[in-house]
Amino acid sequence: MTVSMLMRPDPRVRVAHEGDPRAEGRCVLYWMQRAQRGLDNPALNYAIAWGNTLGLPVLACFGLTADYPGAQRRHYRFLIEGLADARNDLAACGVPLVVRLGRPDRVAIEVANLIQPALVIGDDNPVRVAQEWRSALVRDLAVPCRLVDADVVVPSSLFPKEEFAARTLRPKMHRAWNDYLKPLPRPIAKNACPDALIPRGETLDVEGLLAKLKVGGAGELSGYRGGTREALRRLDLFVEHRLARYAEERNEPSPYATSELSAHLHFGQISPLTIALRVRDSAAGDANIEALLEELIVRRELAVNFVARNPKYDSIEGCPRWALETLQKHERDPRPYLYDPATLEAGSTHDPLWNAAQQEMVHTGRMHNYLRMYWAKKILEWSPDAATAFKVALDLNDRYEMDGRDPNGYTGVAWAVGGKHDRPWPERPIFGTVRFMSYASTRRKFRSDQYIERVRAIVEGCGDNAPWALK
Ligand SMILES: Cc1cc2nc3c(=O)[nH]c(=O)nc-3n(C[C@H](O)[C@H](O)[C@H](O)COP(=O)(O)OP(=O)(O)OC[C@H]3O[C@@H](n4cnc5c(N)ncnc54)[C@H](O)[C@@H]3O)c2cc1C
Repeated sequence: MTVSMLMRPDPRVRVAHEGDPRAEGRCVLYWMQRAQRGLDNPALNYAIAWGNTLGLPVLACFGLTADYPGAQRRHYRFLIEGLADARNDLAACGVPLVVRLGRPDRVAIEVANLIQPALVIGDDNPVRVAQEWRSALVRDLAVPCRLVDADVVVPSSLFPKEEFAARTLRPKMHRAWNDYLKPLPRPIAKNACPDALIPRGETLDVEGLLAKLKVGGAGELSGYRGGTREALRRLDLFVEHRLARYAEERNEPSPYATSELSAHLHFGQISPLTIALRVRDSAAGDANIEALLEELIVRRELAVNFVARNPKYDSIEGCPRWALETLQKHERDPRPYLYDPATLEAGSTHDPLWNAAQQEMVHTGRMHNYLRMYWAKKILEWSPDAATAFKVALDLNDRYEMDGRDPNGYTGVAWAVGGKHDRPWPERPIFGTVRFMSYASTRRKFRSDQYIERVRAIVEGCGDNAPWALK
């Protein structure tokens, strides 16, 4: 590849800091943040392509901060477990990974100052804190920088406006996705990185790093392991044992028929492309393949679009006007049950199904999608107003779910509490025309007694809290 080929506009690539690569640069720096993996990583591939074109080695760095908003001990363990796989997979491509403690953008600047790269390649990430890191990096960086949209199948830049609903995005996605549902190359960096160029970094020892980070909060979860290897293992099991019943049974939580890959996707330990290609090429049948691609690409990337295009994505104000008006109109409706955040967090409401869902989340780091909808709708019903419900639901989601703090979480809460991507339904108390879910009908939709019993066994320590069929 030539430099001019790499400089051509590419919908995946955002030029964050203009300019030609520095002629005196000693390497290409890959700043890994969102895409924490070596496999099917377009940002890494792009950095390697630059390195090979310029005749330079590629070095990767990662900044591990103890201050990610909302992140808890369980999330840090998961992330650090994943870094070991990322380091090995990057090394197999000829790219050493240096992990340092500190705010990610500061670590990138620190490493850039030490190694004087020709340019910096990063991965992109739509959430606010990650965008702030990128702006700060670009402000303080003396070399050009390009960011690659590495964690979606179809580049987000193809959808520059906020989409109204899945129905507006779906046809555009379907038109575009065949161009992107293709295996990625696995390039190798041709120029070895001299040891003298590799700055000192942390040893990737999970216990040692957790001790240094001193993070507390929601406890760790045995059996919920992070990393690309674990993600690939789950993917194998999913395709082999569950995909063939996904279309019919994905709303059944006891046992799950879904992939349980959302946390690995959240941490960028597996690419959505890896999952999509494996599923598309499986023998699971069209209905199952279509159903999975709808969730993984259309719904997931609709969430990315919401977060990237709506600056109020994490509050009730990001929800549509019709929903805000109807919720406001019903704000003074009598509320037969009102629970404070502590009662909700303890899972001590009058509703056994809701309590089971809450406890599943606290004790296993996950909650089934169907129950997440019910769970958040009930928080709206039992809170003094929609703004409070939004905050409480998001806070619990982000602290306890292993996949929390993700565009999918902001969107899921906005859908349940504020009608985001939904339409008005028949009017009723508290909810107005925002969709309602009742206890009686939700219980009838799946084997809810079995589910409640299963969670009870986990809470009492006699059930296995590892993913149920993915041991
Ligand atoms: C109130 C609420 C909160 C949520 N919070 C989160 C969250 O914090 N993090 C998170 O990743 N997801 C969240 N979701 C979306 C969804 O519940 C999870 O992505 C899904 O349950 C993950 O399970 P899975 O990996 O087995 O999914 P699968 O059914 O196997 O689907 C594969 C992948 O597709 C994507 N996906 C599936 N369902 C949805 C959906 N409804 N919307 C967007 N993408 C989807 C996920 O990335 C998922 O891993 C939330 C939904 C609601 C209603």
